[in-house]
Amino acid sequence: MKNSILMRTNLLVSTIIILGFIITATLSYQANYRASLANIEQISSLTSEGIYFQIMSVFTKPVNISLTMAHDELLIDYLANEKDHLDNPDYTATITNYLDAYRKQYGYDSVFFVSRATGRYYNFNGVDRVLTPDNPENMWFYMLLKGTKHYTLVVDNDEVEGASNALTIFVNCQIKDAKDEIIGVVGVGFRVGYLQQLLRDYEEHFGISAYLINENGDIEVSTTHTGYEKENFFHVRHYEELKSPILGWKKNYAALNLWSKGQNNYVASRYISELSWHVIVDRDTEAMLKAMRQKLYVTAAIIALVILTVLFVITCVIRNFNKKITKLTEESQEFFKKETEQLYDNIYELNITSNCPVGESTERYFESLGAPKGTPYDEGLRRIAEKQIKAEFREGYINTFTPKNVLREYERGTDHLQYDFMISQNGSDYFWMRIDARIFYCTEDHSIRMYTYRKNIDAEKRKEKQITEQARLDEMTGLYTKTATERLIKGLLAKNAQGKYAFFIFDIDNFKNVNDEFGHAFGDAVIKEFTKIIRSRFRKDDLIGRIGGDEFAAFIPLPHAGWATNKAQELSKALNTIYTEQAAQWKLSASIGVAIAPQDGTTFEALYRKADLALYETKKRGKNGYTVYHPSSETSELFSAAEVERPERERERERERE
Ligand code: GH3
Ligand code: MG
Repeated sequence: MKNSILMRTNLLVSTIIILGFIITATLSYQANYRASLANIEQISSLTSEGIYFQIMSVFTKPVNISLTMAHDELLIDYLANEKDHLDNPDYTATITNYLDAYRKQYGYDSVFFVSRATGRYYNFNGVDRVLTPDNPENMWFYMLLKGTKHYTLVVDNDEVEGASNALTIFVNCQIKDAKDEIIGVVGVGFRVGYLQQLLRDYEEHFGISAYLINENGDIEVSTTHTGYEKENFFHVRHYEELKSPILGWKKNYAALNLWSKGQNNYVASRYISELSWHVIVDRDTEAMLKAMRQKLYVTAAIIALVILTVLFVITCVIRNFNKKITKLTEESQEFFKKETEQLYDNIYELNITSNCPVGESTERYFESLGAPKGTPYDEGLRRIAEKQIKAEFREGYINTFTPKNVLREYERGTDHLQYDFMISQNGSDYFWMRIDARIFYCTEDHSIRMYTYRKNIDAEKRKEKQITEQARLDEMTGLYTKTATERLIKGLLAKNAQGKYAFFIFDIDNFKNVNDEFGHAFGDAVIKEFTKIIRSRFRKDDLIGRIGGDEFAAFIPLPHAGWATNKAQELSKALNTIYTEQAAQWKLSASIGVAIAPQDGTTFEALYRKADLALYETKKRGKNGYTVYHPSSETSELFSAAEVERPERERERERERE
């Protein structure tokens, strides 16, 4: 039970913490997710803007320089006279120096100049090579000569001697003569690596991927690709659905922001009309989500750790508390047991629902009475009854404490049973014992249980008996009182209505005179003497009672037919004596009336009436004698219908008084 409380507490605490965590985590995850998306949109847009302006500034200068050179009269003149000085190194040196001066001035990797007429490719080293239309590497040149665009940007390998074919961005610019004929191309080149570094800085700084793509969507520059490879951005990134909106977006500078399919990526795009390139900034949300998830996992791990710690602390605290409570309970139980043991001989616990004893001491007790461990309680109860309890109490004992009765009483709302009985340890010396049983519901296993408290009440019972006995006996004579006599006689008749008994009534003759002559104390002494004589003539257990001031009765089982007459005669004789006390003397005699059961009656009232009639007869005859009732002695004048139940002598006395 204790463990289930602990479990429930731990479960409750864990549930509260976990629920709290789930709610907080979900809310903060959603808030973070929204904030992160907004952040991504903002960063991507700003980054694309930054790259846009950087690219603009990177390209503006070389374009301007190329345009300046293209309009330089020196170059136009040079081309006009080139044919005449093809083999003149000094003439060539002029242009070489010119180009080298530009290279040094602006720090470009390449400054070149190509003649349409001769196909000569000049750079700061002189004539590097001669371009011919049949070489595909020279396409850029012939395209520009044919094209309408004044200048082009081309990513290509630098074929110039010593340049090791390094990937280079070339700004190629048409040179026109006065007649607007294209006579050559001039331009500058700088390494792709420079732009790649620029994009890399952005990527590292803002966690994005940056691309520069041309009007076909081919990647011109990215940290992983160059225009030389002719890779299509939309194909590489699987953004086919974004191709037409991005390439169709020709608004200079303004940003186009789009989410990729499934919102996994955010793409910000800007168009650089001067270069006909698009700046693409691509932000992968997966990385952000991964970071957020990781954060969530870390928080969950921390919460789990917190839960474990809290549960550990709770478990420790509750266990500690339980231990203390158990100790306290044990102490108080021990104390209670000690105290109650003084009141009760034994206390046993029984599981009524399971019909078995509970605890070692109860089991031991059952065992000691021949009910080994495992014997059902009702069986043990029977064995105890048979072995220890006085026969007349057995049935009551079993019926009171049998599981069936206990459950019935409990259902009726009774929680206390009591039974007094006589018990013996050795089979002969019986003493009084009381069992008080307390029935209760045990919440631990939902059973009905019972505590029985045994108490030796022998002394109590004996005293009680003595007291009742005393109440039944006449104080002066020690004989039964009138009520007790009547009850006892009625009891005997009820047991055996046809039993043969002799009913004697004794009345001291002229007793009033004793009091009158010698005083009350002497009268008492005479009564005692009278009692003594009667007692001596009967057996110890015979039923003798004082039924009036000087009237006595005896109800004796009749051994044979003439016995009552003989006994009456014997008693009459014995009671006819002289009582002497100091100087006082009294001639004692008694009048006796006898009725016989069942012939004269089978009820107390009938027998009393008949015995009294017989007594009356004796008195009438002159007292000091006896009469055994005979129906013939009854006369119709003596009994009226209304007076039938009233002893005749009473009426006689009344008449005398009158
Ligand atoms: P009879 O011969 O007809 O029986 O006459 P009696 O005087 O004996 O008759 P009665 O029944 O009238 O008198 C009984 C007297 O017994 C009356 C009463 O004062 C006296 N008495 C009753 N109880 C006691 C007692 O406990 N002690 C004493 N000393 N006298 C008692
Ligand atoms: Mg009398």
